[in-house]
Amino acid sequence: MPLNNPPVAIAGAGIAGLTLAIALLRRGIDVEIHEQAAELREIGAGLQIGPNGSRVLIDLGLGEAMDVIVSEAAAKEVRHWRTGRTWKLFDLGADCIERFGAPYWMVHRGDFHRALLEGARALKPDVVRLGSAVRGFDQDETGVRLQLESGDTARAGVLIGGDGVHSAVRSAMGVQDRPAFTGIMAWRGIARAEGLPEHLRRPVGCNWVGPGGHVVTYPLRGGAIFNFVGIVEGRDWPVESWTEAGTYEECLADFAGWHPHVEAMIRNLDQPFKWALIGREPLDTWAQGRVCLMGDAAHPTLPFLAQGANMAIEDGMVLARCIEASPGDPPAALKRFERLRAERTASIVRKSREMAGRFHNPVLADPDLADAYISREWDPDVSRLRYDWLYEYDAGKVDVA
Ligand SMILES: Cc1cc2nc3c(=O)[nH]c(=O)nc-3n(C[C@H](O)[C@H](O)[C@H](O)COP(=O)(O)OP(=O)(O)OC[C@H]3O[C@@H](n4cnc5c(N)ncnc54)[C@H](O)[C@@H]3O)c2cc1C
Repeated sequence: MPLNNPPVAIAGAGIAGLTLAIALLRRGIDVEIHEQAAELREIGAGLQIGPNGSRVLIDLGLGEAMDVIVSEAAAKEVRHWRTGRTWKLFDLGADCIERFGAPYWMVHRGDFHRALLEGARALKPDVVRLGSAVRGFDQDETGVRLQLESGDTARAGVLIGGDGVHSAVRSAMGVQDRPAFTGIMAWRGIARAEGLPEHLRRPVGCNWVGPGGHVVTYPLRGGAIFNFVGIVEGRDWPVESWTEAGTYEECLADFAGWHPHVEAMIRNLDQPFKWALIGREPLDTWAQGRVCLMGDAAHPTLPFLAQGANMAIEDGMVLARCIEASPGDPPAALKRFERLRAERTASIVRKSREMAGRFHNPVLADPDLADAYISREWDPDVSRLRYDWLYEYDAGKVDVA
């Protein structure tokens, strides 16, 4: 196969890069991943993987590995920030499988990353080169030469930038990512289940909505721990980091006046981390000749539809299928990938941003008005319109010919 020598090079062993690697290796296409980190550590907390993502992972043979690490919540609920009144958003579990043919998973990011890494290494043990940051590249019609931070170079048939929101490959392509701080900040952490009130230990995902903020909680590791994300507007702290620690006092102050269940979650966190939400307009283009971007490097999004990792997973499947379909013409394969993915990913980025206004609406300050507002905005038919198009997408069936 023309792409096997030299192989496909991927910058970044994150969710996007590893999914792509597995999808390519299963098609007999050789891959080398250059990962900047010297060792792969557990970063972040929970991830929600919708049926659009789980369907791909099952197709890639990861179903059994995922089954032992995921939680399948029974339902998703919306709760009022102050009164705690609860509305069912939709059923998950068997209902999700019946409607979309694939499960809705909640998983610790570290567990998921390990499953992907093991899946890739089972197909090619030395697929990931650690401590190998990609700094730039040059390309001609026969291939790409990667410039590595170490000063070394590596030859590849194509280079895929799966190197995350601060992508070096994107910078080397000369593509502008147009970041703008949203004024919104997120708290995140993991709460131990023991010590939480009984009601909070139920196996449901919950969105608490309030004026100027919202809180998302869901079970991980069979309900032994809970993921907590607390979003607040009107902050001046534009540091986009997943590892910046904050204090319990700051976090509690940001949710002063919220229902005691929210306070209980915060007090039970192992460590509150804080992170600034940076918004970015969808890029006009992300494929240039034999180089292209995927995952957060191509279409970073605010997390309000819980679709960033799902898009990275979908990208991996569609891109591998495009590369397989045009082995003799990599630039055409990468352009086709861009064309096939641009509209959907831009819609997700834009609709995620719109969700902030819905979650944080000022009307939620008044419990009487809030009840009517939540009943209307999260009516089951309205919710279906908002989410079904995300979950129905089948990256394994998109026409790549
Ligand atoms: C708080 C929060 C909650 C989220 N919740 C959800 C959710 O519920 N559901 C969901 O679908 N998504 C969620 N997301 C989004 C999701 O985590 C990201 O969209 C996803 O991780 C993107 O994967 P990626 O592989 O593109 O990037 P990353 O996971 O960031 O991986 C990039 C990799 O590239 C490496 N790298 C960076 N630079 C270089 C370089 N120069 N050379 C080589 N390697 C490099 C990095 O070390 C890293 O390993 C959430 C995100 C956040 C922050």
